[in-house]
Amino acid sequence: MVLDVLTYPDKKLKMKSKEVESFDEKLHSLLDDMNDTMVDKNGIGLAAVQIGVLKRLFIINIPDEKGDQYPENLIEVINPRIIESRGETTYEEGCLSLPQYYEDVKRADEIVVEYMDRDGNLHKTELHGLGAIAFQHELDHLNGKLFFERISYLKRKKFEKDWKKRK
Ligand SMILES: [Zn+2]
Repeated sequence: MVLDVLTYPDKKLKMKSKEVESFDEKLHSLLDDMNDTMVDKNGIGLAAVQIGVLKRLFIINIPDEKGDQYPENLIEVINPRIIESRGETTYEEGCLSLPQYYEDVKRADEIVVEYMDRDGNLHKTELHGLGAIAFQHELDHLNGKLFFERISYLKRKKFEKDWKKRK
């Protein structure tokens, strides 16, 4: 089922999400709905808070070089942690909660992460490039942070001005 995505300045987007404790049917249907929603909106990642659910989980599906997404590349990430981060990279990010806004954001280039899957199994893996960027972007959502909070003060001021004009 495709759900509505909350957009800035919805207050929920600033709230911290809580750890997932039960890996049950309810969680599975939430994850399925989130995937339907992400695919419908052409996103490469979606955090539960973006559909109004304050749980520490998100999904990512990184497209290939041609920009195509495949269902088998979907990663469901629950209770994530970044254990190690290395290097620095800049990428022009976008967000389904900030439609039509894109800006360069600096993040770690390589990360080692731990998370659980939908059945509660623990995974440890290393990510780099767009996978690492998307993981950090989505993890920020779980802590109530949007990507424009990681850009320079001046750019952020300009963003706020432009955003108000759009309303
Ligand atoms: Zn986002």
